[in-house]
Amino acid sequence: KQAVVRSDLGPLLEQVGSGKESLSFMRRRMRRLAVQWAVAARRLDERLRSRQRQQKRVLVHVGFLTEESGDVFSPKVLKGGPLGEMVQWADILTALHVLGHNLKISVSVKELQGFLGVPPGRGSCPLRGPLPFDLIYTDYHGLQQMKQHMGLSLRKHKCHIRVIDTFGTEPAYNHEEYATLHGYRTNWGYWNLNCRQYMTMFPHTPDNSFMGFVAEEMNETERLSIQREKVNNMVVVYGKEANMWKVGGKDKFLTILHRYMDIHGTVYYETQRPPEVPAFVRNHGLLPQHELQQLLRKAKLFVGFGFPYEGPAPLEAIANGCIFLQPKFHPPRSSLNNEFFRGKPMSREVSSQHPYAEQYIGRPHVITVDYNNSEEVEVVIREVEPFLPYEYTCEGMLERVNAYIQHQDFCHLDGPFPSANDSKLWPGNPPSPFVLLPNSTVVVWAPNVTAPACWPPLSALRLLLAREAFSCVKTCQDSGLVCEPAFFNFINNMEAFNGLDVQCEALEAEKNHVFPAVAVERRECFLQKEPLLFSCAGVSTKHRRLCPCRDYLPGQVALCRECL
Ligand code: UDP
Repeated sequence: KQAVVRSDLGPLLEQVGSGKESLSFMRRRMRRLAVQWAVAARRLDERLRSRQRQQKRVLVHVGFLTEESGDVFSPKVLKGGPLGEMVQWADILTALHVLGHNLKISVSVKELQGFLGVPPGRGSCPLRGPLPFDLIYTDYHGLQQMKQHMGLSLRKHKCHIRVIDTFGTEPAYNHEEYATLHGYRTNWGYWNLNCRQYMTMFPHTPDNSFMGFVAEEMNETERLSIQREKVNNMVVVYGKEANMWKVGGKDKFLTILHRYMDIHGTVYYETQRPPEVPAFVRNHGLLPQHELQQLLRKAKLFVGFGFPYEGPAPLEAIANGCIFLQPKFHPPRSSLNNEFFRGKPMSREVSSQHPYAEQYIGRPHVITVDYNNSEEVEVVIREVEPFLPYEYTCEGMLERVNAYIQHQDFCHLDGPFPSANDSKLWPGNPPSPFVLLPNSTVVVWAPNVTAPACWPPLSALRLLLAREAFSCVKTCQDSGLVCEPAFFNFINNMEAFNGLDVQCEALEAEKNHVFPAVAVERRECFLQKEPLLFSCAGVSTKHRRLCPCRDYLPGQVALCRECL
């Protein structure tokens, strides 16, 4: 059945209900952005009209909002607690509804069991018969609940699952046996999914799919009026919880800032001004989202103190014409050296409070400086236009989510993976499905007629050899490309080494999350034996990695030019 775009959010709002403060927050957000979604849907529909778009049966099970997982978030919605996840779930639900899919929403284990047709009660009573859904969006809590209540059948159906995972999960942490053997075991990883089934808040590593959310867009009239209404010396500080203002050294920073600027805050408080917030700050208390937008429209500067990491607010500030000033982290923070990130299934280095803003947006909208270096802090505040990357607009999110729904298929392996029989790893057996076209800087693989179907299409593949101690994320990025994990299957062979002029003195196949790669010292070439370990993020000082890169659309890093 063909999916038909919907512009009426009424039925969705009804489905979401309002039993909890978190659900009410999501409904308010949906209602506020309804017009924006409808306009985007119409535009995307015109562009995709000629395409087949299958309607999918989709279950959304929001695990972290269930009583069974403790639901610590809902009671804090109006008290300065984290809202980023709710922003994202609201947008995911809206995108799925607008794209015309058949949607069921569950925020309790009971509802989950009802939708899956599993008899209620604990225990691992397996689901009988076929899965009544094509796709299930959930989170790590939900995954655990499904394991408990679907028992053995979860394994059979897991290719249909998508896990909304804010900070991402890297392959080395996802593969249970490998994580256990090599010290990558955390509280979250080890589900042996295809890592592209994890969907993140920002495009952290291409090993995961980038889901994102949306920020408010402005029409031309609003843009102009914003620029007129900007108050030059007005700054809003990022952080709705008082303890975000406690960070050492910030008092001095605030005092300097106060000399030039009027400082506003939106820190939650019950009766009295929180002691962490200096008296010269105008604190509005936690604001409803639309009032925060109004405040940001007037402000010139949005200042982060280092926490929260990677939230939605900086994008909203930039979209409303603020400059985002944020601290650079020396050294970068990660699960190896930072309490907040410890135990998260990834070792990504977080170079500033908001690396996406730093790397994908940058100056003049984003200024990332070392706050201990007060000379650097003397920033020049110029006229800045509002800016919102396309991937965070409604149309951008719809385009991306639609492409995933129509093309990503983890139930059928993409490509000829030879791990079952090591002899097949050797050249000529079977013949490589590619013709190699070397050009000056990158090797271009041109699929011949027998090339297997793949999404993204193989024509986008550019093969690069990383320097030692470089990940494929960085290697592709440095060439203006992005690492594409779907292509690893196709470069895990001798032809790929040959194509890059690597002289292999020996060839081995092993389970290691940096393979395929060549050892720097002994010229030994290694192929990957376990497809789940293909990793864009992996780094090794002893190896140069083979990296499958691809191009991407401006402002839509998840999609290549021929991906749509
Ligand atoms: N927000 C809000 N009122 C405020 C401050 C923030 O509604 O006074 C919203 C903001 O619009 C953003 C969301 O809170 O969409 C999450 O913001 P943040 O970047 O702080 O991330 P979090 O840590 O909450 O996930």
